[in-house]
Amino acid sequence: MGRSYNIVSVPGDGIGPETNGAAVRVLQAVAGKYGFEPKITEYKAGGCAIDAFGVPLPGETLRACMDSDAVLLGAVGGPRWDMIEAERRPEQAILGLRQGMHLYANLRPAVLQKELGNVSPLKNPGDIDMLIVRELTGGIYFGKQGAYKSSEKLFDGTRKGTVAFDTETYSEAEISRILRRGFEYSMKRRKKLTVVDKANVLSTSRLWRTLAKEIAKEYPEVEMDFLYVDNCSMQLVSRPSTFDVIVTSNMFGDILSDLAGQITGSVGLLPSASLGNPGMPGLFEPIHGSAPDIAGQKKANPIASILSVQLMLKLHLGEKDAAESISQAVRKTLADGARTPDIALHGDEEDKSKIILVNTDEMTDRIIANLE
Ligand code: NAD
Repeated sequence: MGRSYNIVSVPGDGIGPETNGAAVRVLQAVAGKYGFEPKITEYKAGGCAIDAFGVPLPGETLRACMDSDAVLLGAVGGPRWDMIEAERRPEQAILGLRQGMHLYANLRPAVLQKELGNVSPLKNPGDIDMLIVRELTGGIYFGKQGAYKSSEKLFDGTRKGTVAFDTETYSEAEISRILRRGFEYSMKRRKKLTVVDKANVLSTSRLWRTLAKEIAKEYPEVEMDFLYVDNCSMQLVSRPSTFDVIVTSNMFGDILSDLAGQITGSVGLLPSASLGNPGMPGLFEPIHGSAPDIAGQKKANPIASILSVQLMLKLHLGEKDAAESISQAVRKTLADGARTPDIALHGDEEDKSKIILVNTDEMTDRIIANLE
């Protein structure tokens, strides 16, 4: 029996079906070349699930994802569902999947693709190749929150009115397991780990630091440093190529990974992986949303979704040769000049004369043709 994997495809809304469709096609093509079988089943989540079942994350979708080897997600949401109350909005499907599948480690590689010329808004970006490891199921996004009316006043006598609060909570167990992930990935890369926090103000951050110093003793080869999140955002702009692995909390990772994404080009290029404990299913998705402004027009760049398949094969299913085949096919396709509209205007004048403007399907066909 050959190697076979149960893959759940959740296309979602907007451009999700277009980019996830591209990812599924590349997965099937690379599997044929490398002798494994992806058994792909499709389920609904997000706005299309609200339309069909009245909820953003139907139980059968969550169960199928939990029973799978890996999930390929497109994107969810769109203006049609924006007026729905918060708990039933399409984006709740993502939080529900992360929680339900215990996906506590979010990995976002940010790499500057040299084949695109200078896509970075920075003048001298250098060779950017970093991995942001973000804690995904704890911290302020999952802490106690609420709002109440207050009769108290500010110092100048103004009534406070409504008060809202969010709470950052982290346990030793939650912090330790994500820090260990950070050290493990550093060991496989350039052995540099930056722990990002706000330890001058937050007690949760001080616990992160204490535990990081303890765990660092198990990884003497890794050069670890600490940065406050405000300083880190400045350093990511001024010296991005010096970062290797960054490990940080849920909210800081959310913000910093968008910054890292932007300095390496279009959101249409960037994949992500969300993982739980070893042996549990992982979830792989582009970092972009459902892009309602270009949905249905075949303008979407499928590369972020296709590179999410690459991450799935490399980090999760152990199909390293097939993963490398996808990486090189994307590089070759870009080097050949193929560009979806979002990346067509990058590069210098000489590069622009070689550009071949393609749609979502044509970009996917070219990548498949370049698989080795
Ligand atoms: P977005 O990422 O969907 O779009 C931002 C901009 O980037 C748009 O101009 C869009 O056209 C462009 N873009 C995004 N992906 C692209 C691609 N593959 N190729 C070319 N261009 C691309 O973010 P938004 O506009 O803030 O959100 C739109 C909807 O998506 C909202 O409903 C939001 O809640 C949802 N969303 C979902 C996810 C998710 O499913 N994980 C993530 C973010 C936003």
